[in-house]
Amino acid sequence: MSAPEESAVRGSSASNSSDTATPKDLPALDRLLHVPGVAALIAEQGHTLVAGEARALLAALRTQALAGTLPFPAITPDALSAQLAQRVAERLAPRMRQVLNLTGTVLHTNLGRAVLPQAAIARVQALMAAPNNLEFDLQTGRRGDRDSLVEGLLCELTGAEAATVVNNNAAAVLLTLAALAPGREVVVSRGELVEIGGAFRMPDVMASAGARLAEVGTTNRTHPRDYEAAINAQTALLMKVHTSNYRVQGFTSAVSEAQLAPIAHAHGLPLVTDLGSGALIDMTLHGLPAEPTPRQMLQDGCDLVTFSGDKLLGGPQAGLIVGSKALVARIKAHPMKRALRMSKLPLAALEATLQLYVRPEHLARELPTLRLLTRPLADIEATARTVLPVLHRALAPRYTVESVALQGQIGSGSLPVERLPSSGLALAPVDKKGSGRALEALCTALRNLPLPVIGRIHEDRLLLDMRCLEEVQDFISQIGHLRLTDMREQLSP
Ligand SMILES: *Cc1c(COP(=O)(O)O)cnc(C)c1O
Repeated sequence: MSAPEESAVRGSSASNSSDTATPKDLPALDRLLHVPGVAALIAEQGHTLVAGEARALLAALRTQALAGTLPFPAITPDALSAQLAQRVAERLAPRMRQVLNLTGTVLHTNLGRAVLPQAAIARVQALMAAPNNLEFDLQTGRRGDRDSLVEGLLCELTGAEAATVVNNNAAAVLLTLAALAPGREVVVSRGELVEIGGAFRMPDVMASAGARLAEVGTTNRTHPRDYEAAINAQTALLMKVHTSNYRVQGFTSAVSEAQLAPIAHAHGLPLVTDLGSGALIDMTLHGLPAEPTPRQMLQDGCDLVTFSGDKLLGGPQAGLIVGSKALVARIKAHPMKRALRMSKLPLAALEATLQLYVRPEHLARELPTLRLLTRPLADIEATARTVLPVLHRALAPRYTVESVALQGQIGSGSLPVERLPSSGLALAPVDKKGSGRALEALCTALRNLPLPVIGRIHEDRLLLDMRCLEEVQDFISQIGHLRLTDMREQLSP
C-alpha cells in the first residue's frame, strides 16, 4: 500500500473538516518513489533525476499545504505521479528552442541570424559523432591546420591570396588589430565608429586590441586629405568600417576603399576594411539591394577584408579574414588566434555552406537566407491568406485579423535603410479600452505556443510578417494550443 493513497483516504475522512491537505497528508519521499507510475519513471529516467524532482515537488506541496491551499485531489498517487512526470519533462526540455520568426527581419540577431542550409546541417551531423581530420593532414600524415579546410574555398570565392577564420567577425576585427597595430595608430573616419549590439563598439575594440584610434574627419564628412593628414610614424594601418546598422544621410562624404588604397600604399600602410555582413555574391543579381563583396573590396585595393559567417553569407557564426598572404600569416601567428579560433562544429557547417557557392545556380534554393530574401511576394501573400481564416477563428471576437502589406528588412545590420516588400497579418484588440494589455496577452499566448511565434508590435497592432514562414502547417497546426489566459482574467472583473 502506498502512502499517497493512505494520505488521500485519511485526509478525506479526517476529523478536521477542512478540505485541504496538511503537510502530514503528504507521502514520505521513499513512499512516493514506490508509486507505480513513479517507479516506471525511474526505470526510464534514472533515480537521480526523478528523486531530485520528487524532493522538490514534495517541498513545493508542503509549502502549499502550510498555506492551506493544497486540495486533496492534488496528492492522489496518480496526481503526484503526473506532476512528477511533468517536472522531469521540464528539466529535460531544451531551453534553446526553435521559434517561428515572423518579425519580418530575416537575419534576426536575437533569433540566431542565418538559418543553416540542409547541406551544412547534414555535414555537421555526419562529422561530429566520430573523429575527423580537423588538424591532421591526410596527405602527409602530419599535423594539419584547421584553416586549410576552408582557405581554398574562401580564396576562390573572394579572389584573396590567403584566408583565416575565427569565432565571429568581432573576433576577426579584434585579432586583426591586435596582430597588425599593437601600440600603434589606426586611422578611422569619425563617421564609421560604429557600435554593433552594445558590446561591440569600434573605439573599445581598438582599445582592447592595444591599438590607438586616430579619428579623422567629422561624423558626416571625411575627405582623402583627412586621412593623409593623420598618417605619421606611429600609424599602423588605415581602416574602413562598413556602417552596417545605420546610414548617415544628407550632406555627407566618405572616402571609398578605392580612393583610400593608393593613399595607404603610398605610405607603405595596409588598408583593412570591416565589411560586417559581406555578401559573397552580387546581391543585385537576385533583385536585392547592392551590398559590397569581399572580392570587390580586394579588387579596390584593400589588403584585408573581415566579415561575418552568419549574416548575408548564410552560414554558421564565424569571422572570416581574407586578403594578403603576408598579413594573414601575421594574424595567424598571433597568440590570440588560438583563443579565438573556430570550433570544429561551425567549421564543418562553414565548409558545407561555402561549397554551395560553387554552384551559384542552385544558391537561391539551397541557401535559406537567400531563399527567404528572394521569396516572391505572391508566395508570401498566399501564406498570409492561408493563415488568416485560422487565426480569425481562434481570435474572434476579441481581436481583429487583417491581411496587410508590410516592409521587412534583411537584418543584422545589413542594408539598414532598404526595405523588403512583404506581406502578413495585423492583429489588434477590438476593445480599445485596455488594448495595451490585450495586445501583450496575445503576444504572450503566441510565445507560449509549442513552436513560439515571434512577431513585432507596431502602432498598437501585432504584425506577423509571413516572409520566413515557409511551412505554413508549422503555424496552423498549433493554433489549437493558443491560450489567451490573461484575457479571460481581464474579461471577468
Ligand atoms: C555584425 C558586424 C560586426 C560583428 O560581427 P559578428 O560576426 O556579429 O561578431 C562587426 N562589424 C560590422 C561592421 C558588423 O556589421
